[in-house]
Formats: sequence, C-alpha cells, structure tokens
Amino acid sequence: MLPYLNLQAAEAGLGRELSFAEKIWFNYSANKHDFVLHSHNIIFLCFFYSLVPLPYMLVELSRSKKIMKYKVQPKVQRSFWDMFKCYKDVMKSFLIVVGPLQILSYPTINLIGIRTGLPLPSLWELLLQLGVYFLVEDYVGYWVHRWLHTKWGYENIHHVHHEYRAPIGFAAPYAHWSEILILGFPAFLGPALIPGHIITYWLWFILRQMEAIDTHSGYEFPWTKYIPFYAGAKFHDYHHYVGRQSHSNFSSVFTYGDYLYGTDKGYRCYMVLSNKKISGGVLLRKIWEWEKGLYGDGNWNMFSVYRSFDLSENRLLNIAGRWRPFFTQTARSTDGKPSCANGDTGNMKEHCRLTTFTGVDRF
Ligand SMILES: [Zn+2]
Ligand SMILES: [Zn+2]
Repeated sequence: MLPYLNLQAAEAGLGRELSFAEKIWFNYSANKHDFVLHSHNIIFLCFFYSLVPLPYMLVELSRSKKIMKYKVQPKVQRSFWDMFKCYKDVMKSFLIVVGPLQILSYPTINLIGIRTGLPLPSLWELLLQLGVYFLVEDYVGYWVHRWLHTKWGYENIHHVHHEYRAPIGFAAPYAHWSEILILGFPAFLGPALIPGHIITYWLWFILRQMEAIDTHSGYEFPWTKYIPFYAGAKFHDYHHYVGRQSHSNFSSVFTYGDYLYGTDKGYRCYMVLSNKKISGGVLLRKIWEWEKGLYGDGNWNMFSVYRSFDLSENRLLNIAGRWRPFFTQTARSTDGKPSCANGDTGNMKEHCRLTTFTGVDRF
C-alpha cells in the first residue's frame, strides 16, 4: 500500500514526475495491502508453472523429427496423461505446502525489508540484484543438493525428485514436500541478504522457476549455450539419468559449483568421449579413471556413469566382462589386499558382492 492519496501527492513526495512504469505501479498497488502484493507470488508460481512447460509438452507430443534431435534422451517418450499426472501432483504440493509457506513467510518478508513503494528500482539495480540472487541460490543450492544425495537424504527425501530418470518440464518442482521447504532456503537467502523491491522479488521467483523448467525439460535447444555458464538441460539430465548413485552435476543454474569442487568430472569425460568414435571398453576405462580420481575405488560409481550411455543390458555386460581383469586388478588396494568399493579392505566377499552388482563379475 502506498502512502500517497493520488499521483500528484506521489510526485510531490518524490520531488519529480513519475515514470510510465511508476504510474502503472501506483495505479495497481496504491490500494493493495502489502500482504496481498506478497501473496501474488503463489499466483505467479501456479500461473507460470502451468504455462511455461506447455511448449515442451506440445513438442513432446508432436514427436517431430526436426525437434527430436534436441531431445537428450530420445528413447523416452511421455504421454499426455503421464505429464498431466505430474502436473496434478505438483499443483497439489503448491497448494498444500507452498501456499501456507507463503502466508507464514509474510512477517519475514516485512522484516528483511522487501519494499513495495516508490520509487521503482532502476534497471541496473534490478539486474544486479537478480544476478546476486542467482549466484547465492546456485552456490547454497549446490551444497543442499549434495546433502540430499547422502544415503539418508536420498532415501528419505530426494528419491521422489529422482523418480523421473528422463525429466520433463512439469517435473521441475516434483519433489518430496520437505525438499520443497528445504530448497526454499537458498531461494530466500539472496533477497534476505540484499533486499529489493517486491517486483524484483516476484521476478526472481518467476525466472528461477522458468530456468528450472528449462533444465528439466529434456530438450537442449541451441540458444541456451549463449547464456554464460548456464548448465542447461543436458547437464541436469545427466544427473537424473544416473540417479541415486549420482555424484555429478549438483548445480542447478550454472556450472561453477561442480567445476570448483570437481563434481563434473564424470560428465565432462562423458561429453568428450561421447563425441568421439571410441570403443566401449576404452570409454569405460576412461570414465572409470576420471571417477576413480575423485572417489577412490571407482567400481560402484563407474556403474552409475556408464549406465548413462543408455547401452542395452547385454552390451553393458559384454563390455564389463571384457574389462573384468582390469577392474579386478585395480580394485585391490596398494598393499595387495583386496578392497571393495566402500573403502574397506580384506573383505573379498563384500568386494565380490559389489562387483556382482556392477555386473563386472557376471562373466
Ligand atoms: Zn539429485
Ligand atoms: Zn532435477
């Protein structure tokens, strides 16, 4: 709500003529309580969530060959009812979890100083603040996502989001209710550190949601490469495909978190090698080497990575069988005793169980 009776009073208060945008804002918000303006967020959330994934859905249903070349996992095709079910589930969680959270967070929004009045922020202020919000959310979100991939975090919370091994736009906010709450923290942190105007605050959540829908869309369109450091759909798709065992690609928007902490090694190797004509065995060994450098014994994680090549089970086992001697030899620790993927030594039984799991010992 604005503390001016009319436009003239507002101009007198600011000591200048209002800009066109400010006049629109005055006419729209002058008689609305701040709580009502704050509550717009849930309307925007539902509106943009319903609207932005629609073009991706139409593309998916069209099965157009021209567009299919941009699909990251072309073998997976979703039906309308598949996507609609996801939409329904997410809308339910918006109304049950996000709506009440929005209402309850109103005093906090007031406390941190999100302003609703005049003047409106300049374009530079708006862009700068949005940039900081993206960076803060990306960095903190990276660590929260890594935590969600611990055994406890994954089994109790994050497995719901990973139900989609080939994600779709509608699945961007598809998650356990507690994950929605937890990920709210990095999203609110930017505005809490550098509070701005409520328009900036609205825009932040709208853009962040649009970005999440794009990275989950399953389509990597060429224009996304013009956004600096943008992770894009392929980057996050890899994370979903690998699934539970994934130790790669935790960043949500950009890629610097994974680059800084080395959690994109498997993915980068995959990108390099998948662009070359290279035999399956060499491919696996290379990936294994990358992963081993990061996680010690690479057997367990290697499996999760080479599954992402979408090889048939037979081909996978065939390749794994050919490399069995190599894996068996390197799975031993330096003192000559057998070791297993979890780092224990001297437990051949456990090692065999794990290598059986990876398919390496099935030949
Ligand atoms: Zn994940
Ligand atoms: Zn995801």
